[in-house]
Amino acid sequence: MQGSRNFQENDGPKWGAKRGNPQKYQEQTRCRFCRSKEEVDYKDVQMLKKLCTARGKLFSRKRSGNCAKHQRLVKKAVKYARFLALLPYVG
Ligand SMILES: [Zn+2]
Repeated sequence: MQGSRNFQENDGPKWGAKRGNPQKYQEQTRCRFCRSKEEVDYKDVQMLKKLCTARGKLFSRKRSGNCAKHQRLVKKAVKYARFLALLPYVG
C-alpha cells in the first residue's frame, strides 16, 4: 500500500507539467484556410510556396497549422502545380 501511494505522488505532477500552456498552442495552430475562408487553388503559387520548404517539400500539418481537410486539398494542389511546372519537385 505504502509503495503504490509513493509511486502516484512521484509520478502525478510530471505528466501534467509536460509542456507549456495548451490553450495558447491551440490559438496559434488554427487553419489559415478556415480562418480566411479562401479556397485552396493550384494556380496560387505564392500561397503554395509558403506551405513548402525551400527544398520543395510540403510542410506537415503541425508546422503549417492546416486542418486535415485543407491539408489534403493543399497536398493535391501542390502535386498538380508541380505537374504543371508551377512549383519545383526539388528546390
Ligand atoms: Zn481548414
